[in-house]
Amino acid sequence: MSPGWDVIFVGSGINSLVGGALLAKAGRRVLVLERNDYLGGAIKTAEITEPGFQHEVFSSWHPLFVGSAAYGELKDDLHARGLEYLNTDLPTGVVFPDGSSAFLTTSHEENVAAFDGYAAGDGKAWQSVVEAFMPNADIAFAVLGTELWSSAGVGLALKAYRRMGRRGLAEFTGGMLSTCRDWVTSTFASPKMHGLLAPWVLHTGLGPDAALSGFMTQVIGVAIEMGGMPVPRGGGIKLVEALESVIRDGGGSCETGTDVERILVTDGLATGVRLVDGETLLASEAVVANATPTQLYGRLLAGAPVPAEASEGARRFRYGRGEMQIHMALSEPPRWGGDERLARTAIVHVTPGLDGVSRAVNEAERGLLPAEATIVCGQPMAVDPSRAPEGSWIIWIQLQELPARVRGDAAGEIEAGDGSWSEDLRERYADRIQARLAHHIANLDSALLRRVVLSPADIEAANINMVGGDIYSGSCALDQNLLWRPRPELPGHRTPVRSLYQIGASTHPGPGLGAGSGTLVAQEIIRPSPPRRAFRRLAALRERRGP
Ligand SMILES: Cc1cc2nc3c(=O)[nH]c(=O)nc-3n(C[C@H](O)[C@H](O)[C@H](O)COP(=O)(O)OP(=O)(O)OC[C@H]3O[C@@H](n4cnc5c(N)ncnc54)[C@H](O)[C@@H]3O)c2cc1C
Repeated sequence: MSPGWDVIFVGSGINSLVGGALLAKAGRRVLVLERNDYLGGAIKTAEITEPGFQHEVFSSWHPLFVGSAAYGELKDDLHARGLEYLNTDLPTGVVFPDGSSAFLTTSHEENVAAFDGYAAGDGKAWQSVVEAFMPNADIAFAVLGTELWSSAGVGLALKAYRRMGRRGLAEFTGGMLSTCRDWVTSTFASPKMHGLLAPWVLHTGLGPDAALSGFMTQVIGVAIEMGGMPVPRGGGIKLVEALESVIRDGGGSCETGTDVERILVTDGLATGVRLVDGETLLASEAVVANATPTQLYGRLLAGAPVPAEASEGARRFRYGRGEMQIHMALSEPPRWGGDERLARTAIVHVTPGLDGVSRAVNEAERGLLPAEATIVCGQPMAVDPSRAPEGSWIIWIQLQELPARVRGDAAGEIEAGDGSWSEDLRERYADRIQARLAHHIANLDSALLRRVVLSPADIEAANINMVGGDIYSGSCALDQNLLWRPRPELPGHRTPVRSLYQIGASTHPGPGLGAGSGTLVAQEIIRPSPPRRAFRRLAALRERRGP
């Protein structure tokens, strides 16, 4: 690794790669350091079951990236390097225990007609949701794409105030705090609609009875209708490779097998990093840590003079529920019972409905294995048939309602043992999920070539940022979300150390492939805000005058 880096990124998650690519395009020499033996963090495409079956080991669906500011800016560079997005008009559906189902398609007219079929008036209600959302959609999405504790954040608040007035703003912000349960039950009559929308709150790290979950459900519902469920042809690895190539072409480098153990701080300024093997690397402009507050303050800044409230805030940072991934290679496409569209839908939720999601979340939060978890059944082949040999199939299952340590089983069937995720516990729980899914997919057991399961402990072992198997790198409860992410004591991306920034899912705008934090920090480094510019001028003046 040659010296002379402008910006060093610790970790190679999507936020680092996007931030690095934006900075590389702006003329910065960027170094990305990754402790794993692959780049991409939670983006990893690999043949983990059978040869020729390309699984998304972790994240799979890219609507957040395709809708992001980063994609808008990097699109041409990424496409020129081979990235191509495929999409579907059947992004999501739900199947209930009795085999009945409901779908959210990318056709507004079709959705309105179908929802009216579930309960008279539900189609009209959906139409009103979309119509009411649109005029302020820019503000809703800007909340997720703005550095809230900055002049841009103040500007956004003023814009909202000017447009909506005091009353309108109170209504908008109050509405943001509502729960998914309150919002879906007061908007739609049909339990089918509740069951179609409620599982999506799991994908925001929340549960249907949590503050903010009503707003998140609306944003996701409307975004899915508008944007479908895009995936890169060939898998997320194509995005990682394209981003790495942009960084390399700008004179930068991405190195795997490089575990950063310390951020070097001189006179309150981040100057570089030290690796576990003792090598030090210097950065002239900034160090950007894609790390949880736990690691940042407890490891990377250990011994550095940081204010007590920052360390204390990091110590208080809470993690959310654990997650399990089940990967299946099938010798043939699944034969779903009921509606034939289930076999063509990208993500099918298998759940008893709103109360089922609520119950499973509550059980997991009390340390129990849920009796009837929400099965997120992803079918990447429904969008990208290139992922496995012709005529075969891949199933990507996510279970987002699990405890990091298991105290018991809500169904009273599985022994929790010492509470750790042993191989036996993992496989027995996966058996329960497979049996429930086999109730809906007639040939699931007979077509199964191989199953690979990752427990919350396996997920943590694969990524230091996913403590306890929390795939969102920190609880997304309101006090650790939006203005207060990662913590009320540590808001935003700046840190008490000058030129050291924190990015990643632990920071605003939180988890997902939207790359928001990497983009915001790259923008700040490229175009320093007025106070930062003034500070730099002052520092330069001081340096000229001497001590
Ligand atoms: C199983 C799973 C499924 C998901 N599904 C989806 C999905 O379909 N769609 C979606 O939008 N989102 C999904 N998510 C969420 C999304 O993938 C993550 O929120 C996002 O990828 C996190 O990106 P990040 O930039 O925070 O970094 P991460 O992906 O967390 O990567 C951080 C990297 O930094 C490295 N690192 C940390 N500390 C150090 C250090 N000291 N030295 C060197 N390297 C270090 C880590 O090894 C890691 O590789 C999923 C997540 C998981 C785990």
